[in-house]
Amino acid sequence: MLPTLPFDPFHILIGGTWRATEDTLPLVNPSDGSTLCDIARGTEADVDAAVTAAQGALDGAWGKMTALDRGRCLTRLGQLVLDHVELLTTLETLDVGKPVTQARADAVALARYCEFYGGAADKVHGQTIPYLDGYTVYTLREPHGVTGHIVPWNYPMQIIGRSVGAALAMGNACVLKPAEDACLTALMFAHLAKEAGFSDGALNVVPGLGSEAGAALARHPGVHHLSFTGSVQTGRTIQTLAAENVVPVTLELGGKSPQIVFDDADLDAALPFLVNAGLQNAGQTCSAASRILIQRSVYEQVAHRMADAYRGKRVGPATDDPDIGPLISVKQKQRFETLLEAAADLPLLAATPLPQDLPPEGAYVQPRLYGPVAPDHPLAQNELFGPVQVLIPFDTEEEAIAIANGTIYGLVAGVWTANGARQMRLAKALKSGQVFLNNYGAGGGVELPFGGIGKSGHGREKGFEALYGFSTLKTVAAKHG
Ligand code: NAD
Repeated sequence: MLPTLPFDPFHILIGGTWRATEDTLPLVNPSDGSTLCDIARGTEADVDAAVTAAQGALDGAWGKMTALDRGRCLTRLGQLVLDHVELLTTLETLDVGKPVTQARADAVALARYCEFYGGAADKVHGQTIPYLDGYTVYTLREPHGVTGHIVPWNYPMQIIGRSVGAALAMGNACVLKPAEDACLTALMFAHLAKEAGFSDGALNVVPGLGSEAGAALARHPGVHHLSFTGSVQTGRTIQTLAAENVVPVTLELGGKSPQIVFDDADLDAALPFLVNAGLQNAGQTCSAASRILIQRSVYEQVAHRMADAYRGKRVGPATDDPDIGPLISVKQKQRFETLLEAAADLPLLAATPLPQDLPPEGAYVQPRLYGPVAPDHPLAQNELFGPVQVLIPFDTEEEAIAIANGTIYGLVAGVWTANGARQMRLAKALKSGQVFLNNYGAGGGVELPFGGIGKSGHGREKGFEALYGFSTLKTVAAKHG
């Protein structure tokens, strides 16, 4: 059951006012299949009103607010998020099926994004450029204008923090379209933003279906920049719609990320990262380490230890804070199980036992570890978005690099080796937006630019880099003699 909410979950926020939509959608708890509440089913007209409100904010108080004051709003919002961490955690646990500890980490990360971008808002400077005699030339960093944010269900709070946080810091006015499967923390975020003192219309939130509210936002001619996280297929649609309006897009589309284990690695240090980076959030993580490449001389040892870890994991309802909760929905479970049919010919090393008393309507799947798997097998190539990892043996460094780079994706890679020269070679050779040496994820630091190459997408969010992405550069050349 939902706790008492300080907002109506079936309302949308436009121009600082909460309002109902004509139609609603049921929001389901994936841990037991129960309906949590109804949420708004935003329409094209709602999105249009939100874009108009955002433009109004830019033309009004929000557009005139100093960078310092925008930063202060974000910093206040960060504190409000911290003050409400437990409620945000509960909402994400129920809505996403995310175990309590993982949901709480996301809420704290959301606060951290607000703090980081609050502090950074007045620290993005233009340049002066030496030029011809009699000229003074400088650049100004300016907001794009209205930014659209289409967010998935797997890490709503973190993705809102990194994209909306950076966009607001740069003075854009945002229209946020959370996922239809999980939008309660987005609404709570909007409620807190109102308390934090953002101008009306600086942040507008319109939940609804991707094909309706999402598509309406992506093709709206009043939107000046789009930020999307989700599937490659939808990313392609969004980039195509954005092309019609010739507006920039940031796409974060997932991956098939490798961790590479050499025989000189500190295996005790590596083990938890090898396993947890595949199973965190039930494997529904764009940067999940779904491929583990292991040098042949330590293959058996690593495979054995990972299999043991799988057998010891606990699957259960998210509110019980297990290691692994359900998938986001029964639909996603069916998709995962269909993709897993490709594994029928693979050696199954271990499967985490499912407790007998799991709620029958929950979207639970059994975590599975396969190996050895050929690098070109569909299970080693396709993103499953569920708790499954494949182990791939290799002999040489060159072979490891070729296998690691041998998918359509390039989001994150991890390398475990004590050899410093090899670390440097791999860091250069891996085709990936992030490379982690003797760790994986570095604790998810909000300061670290994040994004992909290849079909993992383009553009960077997180860190200072996002502030450049959420702004445009104006060059001013003054001739004064
Ligand atoms: P999706 O890409 O369809 O949805 C993500 C967001 O886009 C949601 O808010 C959705 O409403 C919106 N959307 C969907 N269709 C749209 C359209 N035509 N125009 C505008 N917005 C639209 O993802 P999904 O169906 O929720 O999940 C399917 C697969 O996507 C997953 O199995 C996984 O492979 C991938 N995925 C990746 C990530 C990631 O972090 N990279 C996150 C979620 C899902």
